[in-house]
Amino acid sequence: MANEKPRTAIVIGAGAGGIAISARLAKAGLKVTVLEKNDFTGGRCSIFRSKAGFRFDQGPSLLLLPNLFRETFADFGTTLEAEGVELLQCFPNYDIWFSDGAVFRSSTDTAAMKREIEKWEGPDGFQRYLNWLAEAHGHYEISLQHVLHRNFTNHAQLADPTFVAPTIALHPLESIWSRTTRYFWSDRLRRVFTFATMYMGMSPYDAPSTYSLLQYTELAEGIWYPKGGFQTILAAIERIGRRLGVQYCLNTPVAKVLTGGPDGKTATGVLLESGEKLEADLVIVNADLVYAYNNLFPQESENKSVGPTITPYAKDLSKREASCSSISFYWSFSKKIPELGTHNIFLADEYKESFDAIFKRHTLPSDPSFYINVPSRVDPTAAPPDKDAVICLIPVGHLSVTHPASSWPSLVASAKKAVLATVEKRTGLKNLESLIMEETINSPPEWQAKFNLDRGAILGLSHSFFNVLSFRPRTRAKGVRNAYFVGASTHPGTGVPIVLAGAKITAEQILGDKNMEVPWVPLKEWKGDVQAKQGNEKRGGGRLDLVKRPLWTDDWNLFLWSVIGLLGVVVVFLAGPAAWGNGGFVGDW
Ligand SMILES: Cc1cc2nc3c(=O)[nH]c(=O)nc-3n(C[C@H](O)[C@H](O)[C@H](O)COP(=O)(O)OP(=O)(O)OC[C@H]3O[C@@H](n4cnc5c(N)ncnc54)[C@H](O)[C@@H]3O)c2cc1C
Repeated sequence: MANEKPRTAIVIGAGAGGIAISARLAKAGLKVTVLEKNDFTGGRCSIFRSKAGFRFDQGPSLLLLPNLFRETFADFGTTLEAEGVELLQCFPNYDIWFSDGAVFRSSTDTAAMKREIEKWEGPDGFQRYLNWLAEAHGHYEISLQHVLHRNFTNHAQLADPTFVAPTIALHPLESIWSRTTRYFWSDRLRRVFTFATMYMGMSPYDAPSTYSLLQYTELAEGIWYPKGGFQTILAAIERIGRRLGVQYCLNTPVAKVLTGGPDGKTATGVLLESGEKLEADLVIVNADLVYAYNNLFPQESENKSVGPTITPYAKDLSKREASCSSISFYWSFSKKIPELGTHNIFLADEYKESFDAIFKRHTLPSDPSFYINVPSRVDPTAAPPDKDAVICLIPVGHLSVTHPASSWPSLVASAKKAVLATVEKRTGLKNLESLIMEETINSPPEWQAKFNLDRGAILGLSHSFFNVLSFRPRTRAKGVRNAYFVGASTHPGTGVPIVLAGAKITAEQILGDKNMEVPWVPLKEWKGDVQAKQGNEKRGGGRLDLVKRPLWTDDWNLFLWSVIGLLGVVVVFLAGPAAWGNGGFVGDW
């Protein structure tokens, strides 16, 4: 098979990564089968419905980086709209509720943001905000080009000058908290502009400042929600895949990746938990990477020729820093609570201590920060009329020796008490508990069991500096040929749009390895966001629409004035003594 083109592929897992890569490989001509352990697709990005008719997003609720979604659809020659996906903008972005009763409202409305910032930071605060936004814009653009549209297969890539120069501008070695203190003087706004590292399951005191790109996209591009639930986007990609021949097998947990070939190190298919064996030319693992290396790949004792390369690596991965977990409550409310918008953030008073509890002690903070999402506010189809679907996500430590599965039921009870008391105190709402008609809970043990997430870490491996770029586990499996990874814990990282970008990266790597044609515009030809390209096409093409960059702008301006200034100095020094005879300069003896 070494030089033959593959004909069949098995994808383990129907999460965002599995759904997207299976459609891409099918478009490239492969016969793809997706094996999913659960009876639903979407993985962490799935929905469920309650008995009383409420709809809940199991995981994601904030659709950020909308152009990465558009790019996936464009690669299949279609659009979100043509596939029936309607994106609703959440306006405002969110309210941040503080313990002193103040509320910071974040939005894409620049005039409103100016008022909010000046309220807390004084008249010069807005200029500093704009400076922060400009830096975050750089983080976003550079990351899109140099990280999210590129694979990392070796450490030498980090020394490539075309990568090093832009990467310095990402400030990867400074924490987002430290960097933010340069722009905002008040502790309140430093919190407002740093808490979003929790979207990646990281503390703002550890996360590289690069990730200000997340709040940048919220402010510059907005927060969106797909009508019908976040999962409708994946359902649309799944439909595209099915049209291209992808087969989905639900309730089909995989027990092992099978290996064979002359040296026993080539993936040949999978063994299902049912005992059945399925053969394929390629195996792509979308199941959590750390779990897969430790549980699905052959270990030392079983196959000596494959094991020694994998077992130590798998064990090492289990010790790597992981993201946080969550206690997520899914509540059916018997009436609407208009005090809460679509997205609401409640920040702990003891901000730093709350992160230390999560990331150093792996537990529930005594004063937790948390996020409340009311999908029925932006999309009434999420709840019956006059009622609200409410999701409360409390970031907590992942499973650990000090906090194993058995310690979580009591922590869940404490979390519920703390959350309801805080919401009532800060919003003025009363007797919230009496409004809860139905309740479903995911805590670290449930996240681990439902989706095979290592340590129940909801966002996979951490995104600290030594867990990103070429340090992140590679998309080509270690020690097993013809096996690849796609998903949150491989390159480029976590979050639905990032995982979709990763599906493109892994698919192109597979097609490249097998000398197959890439049936979409390949990564190396990526020239910017689909939206911008679509904008170009829509331009009238007349004289008014010509885009010409004037010479006297920005860096050109600076460069030319520097040259003119330098020439002036040279002229003065060369011509001065001759022109002025013995006059000399002031101060000459
Ligand atoms: C609570 C929460 C909130 C989040 N909020 C956001 C947000 O607002 N915005 C955002 O963009 N992202 C958010 N995320 C992150 C986002 O959901 C994930 O990064 C993304 O969905 C991960 O996709 P994936 O394909 O890597 O993995 P998964 O979704 O985990 O998919 C892997 C699939 O593999 C299956 N599987 C595992 N083992 C086996 C096996 N042995 N056999 C067969 N199948 C198997 C699993 O059941 C699962 O379906 C959130 C996540 C969580 C949990």
